[in-house]
Order: sequence, then C-alpha cells, then structure tokens
Amino acid sequence: MRAMVLDQPKQPLQLRDVPKPKPDRGQMLVRVSTCAVCRTDLHIVDAELPDPKLPLILGHQIVGRVEEIGEGIKAQFKVGDRVGIPWLGWTDGECAYCRSGRENLCDNARFTGYTIDGGYAEFTIADARYCFHLPERYDDVEVAPLLCAGLIGYRSYRKTGDARRLGIYGFGNAARLIAQIALYEGRELFVFTRTGDKATQQAAKELGAVWAGGSDEMPPERLDAAIIFASVGALVPAALRALAEGGIVVCGGIHMSDIPSFPYADLWEERVITSVANLTRRDGDEFFEIAPRVPVRTQTETFPLEEANTALDRFRAGKLKRTAVLVVNAVANQ
Ligand SMILES: [Zn+2]
Ligand SMILES: [Zn+2]
Repeated sequence: MRAMVLDQPKQPLQLRDVPKPKPDRGQMLVRVSTCAVCRTDLHIVDAELPDPKLPLILGHQIVGRVEEIGEGIKAQFKVGDRVGIPWLGWTDGECAYCRSGRENLCDNARFTGYTIDGGYAEFTIADARYCFHLPERYDDVEVAPLLCAGLIGYRSYRKTGDARRLGIYGFGNAARLIAQIALYEGRELFVFTRTGDKATQQAAKELGAVWAGGSDEMPPERLDAAIIFASVGALVPAALRALAEGGIVVCGGIHMSDIPSFPYADLWEERVITSVANLTRRDGDEFFEIAPRVPVRTQTETFPLEEANTALDRFRAGKLKRTAVLVVNAVANQ
C-alpha cells in the first residue's frame, strides 16, 4: 500500500510502498478515505513532541471503511461500515486513570499517528473499541476535522463548565468548531486574534461573537472562562488578566511555548489554569451527538495523499485558511 512515511523529524515525509498491515485480535483493517491534518502532526514533524514511533505514518483524524475484522470484535462494527479513528488509539484499561473515567491520562496510552501508525496511508489498523460511528449528515471530507479539532476542542469547552462569557484565544480550526457549539448553547463569545488581524476578527463577528479584538486587548467585560487554542504561552497570563473571579483558563493544545511569569494577584480569587490532554471515548460520544444537531460546520481544503508535505508546509507557514484534508481513496457518496 502507499503511505507517506516520516523517517526522522525535521525531514519531509516520503511516499513509499509499505506492506499492508494485518489486524490482530480486537483490531480492524480500515481502508482510509480521508485524513485531516492537525497542528499536532506539525509538532511531531518539527520535533516538538518527544519520542514518536519511527518510522511513523502520521494522521489521527481518519475516516474510512472497515475492510477486514480481526477476531474478538463484538457487534459494534462490520465489514463496510464507515468508521472514524481518533488520536486516542489504545489504553490499558487497568491503571488508576482508566479505572476512574480518565482514560485520556492512561499511563500506557497509545496515540494514533504518534506512537502507533495513523492515516496518511491507504490502509490503517485500529482497535475497534476506540473507533466511532460518524454522524450521517457529514461526508468523508467534512467530518474528518471533527475527529480532533472538534473532539479535543469539545473537551476544552466542557472544562469551562457553564461559563456565560467565554473567551477564545486563537481562532483556528478547533476554535471555529467549538465557537459554533458555544453559540448554540447560548454563551457570549469573545474572540482574541493576533494583534491587527482584522479579517479574522471580522470572521468571528460574522459567526456570532459579541466582541473580537487583539490578544493584547482587554475584553469589554470580564470573562468567566477562556480557552487558548494558539500555542503561545504568553497568552496564559493575558487570558488570566481578562478573567472574573473564579474564572478558568483552559489550554487546549498539546504543545505551547513557555509561559512568562505573572503576579500572584492575577491568579488570586480562585482563578484556575488547566490544560486538556487527549480525549476519552465519552467525549467522542457526546461530541458526535451534539455536532450534527448544531450543526457544526467544517471548512476544508483537500490535498491528495502524495501532497501531504505541501499541506504541512502551508499549515506551518500560516497559509491554510481552511482545514487541510488528505483524500486518500475516492470518496463514495453517502
Ligand atoms: Zn490506563
Ligand atoms: Zn489533532
């Protein structure tokens, strides 16, 4: 099968013919239809995340069809089913985190497209227990970005509790998806962009934000919560200063530059800073239930599998206006 392979970080992916994998017990062989490109893929290529499997097939927002089923899979999937494969690929089910509903923190978790091979390939292997059925209203291209930007964004959003005034720092893919749910649930949305990025501020207002401005500005009202989707540590103290008493700052990314020091007074009065790691299957079930009701809409730009490096380069350079989705096998109509 054809695959785009990362041999070493900081090198371009190589298009290569590799043996088609075989499903073990509990696993499925999936023919990949589409795979969205995530900022995490970029962090892996740029050596900002430690110890990836090497050589590695990237990609953890995979949409495909079940081609072959290994032994021991109960009724949840059958050959031909459409399936979504997310970042969380496997957990041990036994550690203290798994046993307390926090499998996202599992000591031995494996991650798709990072510590196990992912979807920048014609086929991939997945443990059926971590895969999702996908809402029928979406086609294979438009549903792909929901599998990470949507899902982990949703976990960040849920950490904000019932915040009425919600700030979002960085208005990229995840932010745009989560903003739609926040508005659907009646939150007041305040969007912070790079200083002077009027076009993005305008886009945020058109989507329904009550205020949009630069990340160096203070919002007109204090926020109950803020989610930071940009990987810029300096936004943490900035967001903290914009919070009301008891407010929470949620860092929604897997990698962030260092956070500058700030006065304790900015954290005082029970303000909280937290991060969000990975996802649980429950996050996925909840998200795929609410997303089609909103309905959350994605904006995508497609690339053939062979052009994965182009998609990554354009992402790194900030030249993607929409979420890049690799189209691997021809997309059948729903
Ligand atoms: Zn565990
Ligand atoms: Zn991701």
